[in-house]
Amino acid sequence: MGSLLLLEEAIHFSVSDAVSPLFIGVHYGGRYVKVGIVDSEGQTISYFASTACSEQNPKLEMKRVAELIDYAVKKTGIDFGLVPRVGFCFPGSMSPQTERLYRPSNLPNWCDFPVVSELNEVLGCEVTVFCNDANAAAFAEYWIGAAQGMQSLALIFLGNGIGCGMVIDGDEVIGANGFGGEFGHVIIDSSPFARWCSCMKQGHLEAYASSPAVARRTRELLEVGRGSSLADRVNEHTPLNEIPRMVYEEADKGDKLAIQIVCDTAKYIGLGIVTLIQTVDPACVLIGGEMMFGGKGSNIGEMFLNEIRNEVNNRGMSDLTKFFKIDFAKLGSYACYIGAAGLAREESLLFAVD
Ligand SMILES: [Zn+2]
Repeated sequence: MGSLLLLEEAIHFSVSDAVSPLFIGVHYGGRYVKVGIVDSEGQTISYFASTACSEQNPKLEMKRVAELIDYAVKKTGIDFGLVPRVGFCFPGSMSPQTERLYRPSNLPNWCDFPVVSELNEVLGCEVTVFCNDANAAAFAEYWIGAAQGMQSLALIFLGNGIGCGMVIDGDEVIGANGFGGEFGHVIIDSSPFARWCSCMKQGHLEAYASSPAVARRTRELLEVGRGSSLADRVNEHTPLNEIPRMVYEEADKGDKLAIQIVCDTAKYIGLGIVTLIQTVDPACVLIGGEMMFGGKGSNIGEMFLNEIRNEVNNRGMSDLTKFFKIDFAKLGSYACYIGAAGLAREESLLFAVD
């Protein structure tokens, strides 16, 4: 395995039971690389994850990715020559014209990296690149996940930022400059006192409902003396990324302030979704990512989802909202590599027709 440190390895079923041709999906996340060998029906035959070294130069990283693909191919026992395409996804956006990355937020040295030509060279095969990884995840949910059978969906990722991937009328939304789906930056507050977003503009959704934004709002409420069991757990030293989980845990125990924070977060997200659905009319919006307050099947997760639904129903055009579904995403952290493989399959079918 050379310089790669393998974190996970799983072979789910035998290649002889798979539907050919097979595709390889790769999710390069900055801290890790995930490689899945996926059949033509979207089923994962095998899955491998290793650490990444994002601080190194991206050229070297692509060689490490190729090394992991080679390992996955050998372990699974497939012939790489029979894989029509490899699909990739990366965080951030890529210029559709130059096929170079913009500034991936957690990969500072990757600005302007010619990702498609480098991958072509290092792998010696056709590649399909998704930028950003939220679009890849949306494509996976469209292909085999919670939006299967629907032609249009949006997938919202709640975490350190707020990402969004969209498939509309069966096609991923890229945009003229690769910024289609920057849902985290829709405006939900136009007042002069609106919160500042990480993009240095005011009033954007991400400044209210991302994981660090929820943490900051929690601290502010505690600082003005609001009574809560959170006061025993959150202080100025508590890492921001741990606070939303504490909010969920205290809400689950019935703490009123924690429940209010979850509901306020849902309202902000609902406001953003109203703008989204009235612009692109998806059949469903799926909620995924690290911050789901317990997610599907948990009381607080379901309350969070219902509060989002209520806000959308109260404010959205009723002709539109009556057809519309909001749910949690289904494929979790596997969605990105499955979507990358799915788009590789789609492109290989397209080129076969041409
Ligand atoms: Zn912003």
